[in-house]
Amino acid sequence: MTSAPPAADPSSGPSPGSGALPFADLGASWRAVRPRPAGRHLDSAACSRQSRRVLEATALHPRHEAELGGYVAEATADDLLQQGRSVLGGLVGMAAADVAFVESAQAALVALLIGWRLPAGSRVACLPGEYAPNIAQLRAFGLRPVPLPVDGSGRADPDGVARLLADDPPRFVHLTHIGSHRGLVQPAAEVARLCRSAGVPLVVDAAQSLGHADTDVGADVVYSTSRKWLAGPRGVGVLCVRPALAAGLTPVLPEPEGEPPMRAFESGEGHVAGRVGLVLAVGEHVAAGPERVRARLAAIGRLTRERLDGVAGWRVVETVDEPSAITTLRPPDGVDVPATRARLLAEHGVVTTAIGRERAPGQLTGPVLRVSPHLDVVPEDLEALATALRELAS
Ligand SMILES: *Cc1c(COP(=O)(O)O)cnc(C)c1O
Repeated sequence: MTSAPPAADPSSGPSPGSGALPFADLGASWRAVRPRPAGRHLDSAACSRQSRRVLEATALHPRHEAELGGYVAEATADDLLQQGRSVLGGLVGMAAADVAFVESAQAALVALLIGWRLPAGSRVACLPGEYAPNIAQLRAFGLRPVPLPVDGSGRADPDGVARLLADDPPRFVHLTHIGSHRGLVQPAAEVARLCRSAGVPLVVDAAQSLGHADTDVGADVVYSTSRKWLAGPRGVGVLCVRPALAAGLTPVLPEPEGEPPMRAFESGEGHVAGRVGLVLAVGEHVAAGPERVRARLAAIGRLTRERLDGVAGWRVVETVDEPSAITTLRPPDGVDVPATRARLLAEHGVVTTAIGRERAPGQLTGPVLRVSPHLDVVPEDLEALATALRELAS
């Protein structure tokens, strides 16, 4: 078995089912720059493993705070943070001035809704399988979620979306690009084109897609989190808003003198060390080559599904070639998913997530086990999970 050369065209990668993954250099280098995992970490959709450089930079900043003073240390990090806004903006097709650091993806949505001040009762089109905490936030702001048309798999249906936008346009469309509970990649660029021609703003939840799928889709708002596929620190997120929409937002307090309007959405008190860490993490992502990362993660998803479907009666939910590294498994009859997740961790050292129906009650009919390896996964990790699932069943 030969590995693909580093600069190979993704389409020239190994044939499906061969067990080899494209861009082997990415897997090796991703692993080499991180602490050794205690077990088998197949849980990047929950929280990725940070690199040593990110860990060190995040630890060093509070030291500067102790030496220089917190606000002086923050000022010395200004240039780095501005570079970070620029690179993060680039990943979503926006500029540094359009990017605000916040505390999480949820915090980004809340900041947006506070600033937008939409009248209660405004309709927001969302996937039926929308992430339940997002629906809860929309409702908390008095907004009314209405279903975005989807096909049988839960993917946005462009014809149906076009009809909704023409006949009964919502105030905005909220699209979760990749779900937390399913590795399905929504056709975000197509939905963005439809929204743009209908004059309806599109807000994209990229918590599971930034660093994982192409997020430069032409949305008006993209928000995300640091700790998942970008492998930055916890407690940091980003809110990116195009200038035309940002101009219509009313922050609680005006932006500091001379700063771009989106700076008003950065909390004055923030996890500055975490923001510094995120900037390094996004730098590592860009250095690895976002397209190569996406191609390898998609191949990892395929391999995961091939290796796990049918093992001990567990069934993969996604189609085998869905271009994401998130795989969810439906349990065989009578098997408890949280208990399985706990035993995989305690007895086999395998980190996964049990997703309950409440996470996306509009789509899930029961709990699933989520497996979400990052670039460094090796086929033996997946074999070990398969063996563990068989052992737990016997
Ligand atoms: C994790 C996740 C969020 C929330 O991200 P936080 O940073 O924890 O607020 C939002 N949407 C989706 C789809 C997620 O997977």
